[in-house]
Amino acid sequence: MAAAGNLTNCIDNQLGELPDRQIADALKQALSERHNIYGDTSTTLFFQGQGHNHMAAYLQIERTLDELDKQLLEVFCSNIVITLDNVLLLSQLKDHAYNDQLLHIPNRLALIHALDRALASSVAGELTLALIDIDGFSEFNDTLGHKLGDAMLQAMSTRLQDALPSSSLLARVDGDVFGILAEHSTLCPQQLQTLLHDPLEFADLTQRITATIGLVRLDHVDGKGSDALKAASIALKHGKQQERGSISNFSHQMEFETRARVQLLQDLRLAFEHERLFVVYQPQFNLQNDQLVGVEALLRWRTEDNRFVSPAEFIPLAESSGLIVALGEWVLRMACHDLGTINQHSQRPLRMAINVSVAQLRHPGFIDMLSGVLTESNVQPHLVELEITESMAMLDADLMTVLIDQIKAQGLSLAIDDFGTGFSSLSYLERLNVDRLKIDLSFIRQLEQSEGGRRIVETIIQLGQSLDLEVIAEGIEQQSQAALLKQMGCHEGQGYLFAKPLPMHDLLAFIAAHSSE
Ligand code: C2E
Ligand code: MG
Ligand code: MG
Repeated sequence: MAAAGNLTNCIDNQLGELPDRQIADALKQALSERHNIYGDTSTTLFFQGQGHNHMAAYLQIERTLDELDKQLLEVFCSNIVITLDNVLLLSQLKDHAYNDQLLHIPNRLALIHALDRALASSVAGELTLALIDIDGFSEFNDTLGHKLGDAMLQAMSTRLQDALPSSSLLARVDGDVFGILAEHSTLCPQQLQTLLHDPLEFADLTQRITATIGLVRLDHVDGKGSDALKAASIALKHGKQQERGSISNFSHQMEFETRARVQLLQDLRLAFEHERLFVVYQPQFNLQNDQLVGVEALLRWRTEDNRFVSPAEFIPLAESSGLIVALGEWVLRMACHDLGTINQHSQRPLRMAINVSVAQLRHPGFIDMLSGVLTESNVQPHLVELEITESMAMLDADLMTVLIDQIKAQGLSLAIDDFGTGFSSLSYLERLNVDRLKIDLSFIRQLEQSEGGRRIVETIIQLGQSLDLEVIAEGIEQQSQAALLKQMGCHEGQGYLFAKPLPMHDLLAFIAAHSSE
């Protein structure tokens, strides 16, 4: 209740408790009859609000109002209603613009504005911005559903709100990323670890969580609030690439690396579009009888200034950007097409090994694409082998088992690449329906260096034998390594000793030379 003039004694009173009964009755009547009430010494105006939010105003007047006065007042009242609605709408819009509608905390825009203000003030030197990204949140969300995902975010938001001092600002920046603007000491590693130490409890679940955190001190930011957020994102991304669960402080070196990666990815896309990528093939041999048994397709990128970029550098980039799906499909087509030509030149049918990334496998269209390419290129599926790195095969056991079975059902074979580096368990390996283990070249390098190095390779070969899997060694450079591997019972080998990865033309010459031997 608001009031002015000689009615100020009405302020802060309920309608039923107004000192003057006559005023209370007039207001009640206007509200219940929903129109203005004109008396000799008073006028009560009615304002129709949205929903049940109606209002009434009691005015003392000194003369009776004539018709024109009343008409003007009616117009005035409807104008006021529109204005009030607009004010309400504006405050709702403001709420949407600056508050997260799920968690009811400030959103990215509000954080950027707060950062703008902080950077312009004298306290900037005392503040740090943290971005907290819950590890594996999207997998959790995908498997258990959005409702539980939302509940987890709510629990996390409450946890952070309860733990942080009131002087700090908590915001939701994006999906599962929270931003905190606080004094340095609030965001030191120990404090951050304590924040996440206890499991989150929500919807009858007790969920242990880890988070990757990127930090930037505001005195290391030159620019505006959005620049501070960008710097913290760079630190966060850097941390995610290094190790989940880590805490990374922004540095200008990181910014430099990120720019270089973005540039490289752009160049890679262009190179792919302009067909500057090509595939080379590295021969694989049977170590027991020295016969050529197949080739592995390896992608190459020669830049416009004639520089080679290593796949070890650009494949991870293609994987993290999703480009690998299109790139991998192209390699598959190319390799299957070339396999037809290769086998026209070879006396015995040769096998084609093709590397595939987990992002490709996970793509919903992968299996259809695979069978399409096999049909188009008219190759026999049993001559095509897909290589999946051990660390990737380990990522999602259930999904992998299903996918590998689907691939096998098409008649292809499967190899676990870089074997020995991914720590897969024996029981898991037994579950995976694969055909070959490919011993990682780092072990072949150590083969003759020490007793330990030799024993590791021996163990892998025995493991393969006990699981009834073929074993191939990659990176063989010395005759002595090949001899030792043969003696240990390793079936096949690949490496510079036999041949480097060769362009198609050279490979056909290589095959011709080997056929005449
Ligand atoms: P990888 O599949 O384990 O391939 C073996 C790597 O070892 C190749 O490196 C090959 O050139 C190299 N290599 C072969 N023999 C020797 C040797 O005797 N000594 C030494 N030091 N190295 C040898 P490359 O071509 O640089 O490829 C690196 C990795 O990039 C590959 O490792 C594979 O994981 C990935 N990659 C290459 N092409 C593709 C592709 O088309 N798709 C996917 N997803 N990954 C690919
Ligand atoms: Mg490979
Ligand atoms: Mg390998």
